Amino acid sequence: MAKKRICVIGAGPSGLAQLRAFQSAAEQGAEIPEIVCYEAQSDWGGLWNYTWRTGVDDNGFPCHGSMYRYLWSNGPKEGLEFADYTFDEHFGKEIASYPPREVLFDYIKGRVEKADVRDWIRFDNYVRDVSYDSGRAKFTVTARDTAKDVETVEEYDHVIVASGHFSTPNVPYYPGFESYNGRILHAHDFRDAREFQDKDILIMGSSYSAEDIGSQCWKYGCRSIISSHRSGPMGYKWPDNWDEAPAVDHVEGKTVHFVDGTSREVDAIILCTGYKHHFPFLPDDLRLKTANRLAAADLYKGVVYVPNPALFYLGMQDQWFTFNMFDAQAWWVRDCIMGKIALPDAATMEADWKQREADEDALEDDYACIRYQGDYVEELIAETDYPSFDVEAACQAFYEWKKHKKKDIMAFRNYGYVSPMTGKKAPAHHTPWVDALDDSLEAYLQSPKQAQPA
Ligand SMILES: Cc1cc2nc3c(=O)[nH]c(=O)nc-3n(C[C@H](O)[C@H](O)[C@H](O)COP(=O)(O)OP(=O)(O)OC[C@H]3O[C@@H](n4cnc5c(N)ncnc54)[C@H](O)[C@@H]3O)c2cc1C
Repeated sequence: MAKKRICVIGAGPSGLAQLRAFQSAAEQGAEIPEIVCYEAQSDWGGLWNYTWRTGVDDNGFPCHGSMYRYLWSNGPKEGLEFADYTFDEHFGKEIASYPPREVLFDYIKGRVEKADVRDWIRFDNYVRDVSYDSGRAKFTVTARDTAKDVETVEEYDHVIVASGHFSTPNVPYYPGFESYNGRILHAHDFRDAREFQDKDILIMGSSYSAEDIGSQCWKYGCRSIISSHRSGPMGYKWPDNWDEAPAVDHVEGKTVHFVDGTSREVDAIILCTGYKHHFPFLPDDLRLKTANRLAAADLYKGVVYVPNPALFYLGMQDQWFTFNMFDAQAWWVRDCIMGKIALPDAATMEADWKQREADEDALEDDYACIRYQGDYVEELIAETDYPSFDVEAACQAFYEWKKHKKKDIMAFRNYGYVSPMTGKKAPAHHTPWVDALDDSLEAYLQSPKQAQPA
């Protein structure tokens, strides 16, 4: 019998988790399907593959990256650590809890380099179209190989969508935007906080992006920040030059007017107003339509697309847990494709995601949300051979992180947490986050002694 053919769309942390899951089965002697991973960019790592580009890439496709210079993990690394490849294994020593982007990129790469799966990926391949023939039970995937400038059309038994959902900006409009005498940009296009040095800025939104982009701009010397919210202030103890305001009403010249009648002149408006799940390569009958929430609509076990269970999605939930949750999903999808896990009937699958939604709706606070997602990770890994780990310890790291943020939003990255994989507590970083202006891998990995100023 011909081998099954599997298409994975995207070689970010989710798609790479899928490749590693199949490779780990092969390593144990299982006969695995043929895997083809399409990646639009020239390298792997998804959002962690930083690029300065914005707008469209040099092939005219939308630029995927929302990552920016100087980004340090916004949650503790103990919440995302791979169970089969610890930070200690990768770096050969213990490192602090909030690594910068380049350090995490290095860690993500390390595991897949060790697994030797790069050849499974077709880089510079942008998937343009996917269709399904129910009579033949085959997907047809059309991709543009932008390096060779040719189009390929191939058939697959399963498609796994791992294309991420923090790339297509959700952009609100306010009266006066078109004649604003400054710069308006979405967080997706934010690349470098130094651009806003000595500037007065408005951060619109109260999400992680708002909090982190504002903090970056503050760290790299913007003059003042006002952050506006629609559903309540972020409520941290901000530095003296950072105020919170209610929603924007309209803009006039360089002046932003808020709904409470106050106003502020600003040089730039940064829209930290979220992202849309966007799958321009999928027809309506295969396209996931969900809000950014912990229980994504239409996904059995958070991964199987109920209207067509030959199709899977990875990483489509809102995320407390990231890399190890993608692993839990990828191992589960692998076992489903390889026939180790049987799917129930459509009614049972539909009842599953609806129950998950109802359970999520009943959660009272962020702590309960963290636990809820931890339980989900635990549920999936219990059904596969993904190395079991101390999910409770990962939840504890998140709980402490939240408390440390409340205590001092500009200092929470100075704390260390217990690894759910090794049981060891991370050391403090050699330099407090606020003073660590060089976020390179080399600077980060220096020993405390090397990092001392001369
Ligand atoms: C600014 C920012 C900061 C973040 N910070 C953190 C953090 O500190 N800690 C944390 O744990 N998480 C963080 N996240 C969350 C982030 O979502 C995950 O860490 C992770 O990158 C998600 O992995 P993914 O593979 O699902 O998606 P992505 O990383 O987005 O990767 C998707 C991949 O799919 C490819 N792709 C998309 N469409 C196509 C197509 N049509 N054809 C071929 N390839 C395609 C893309 O090029 C990309 O490589 C952050 C997100 C953002 C936006």
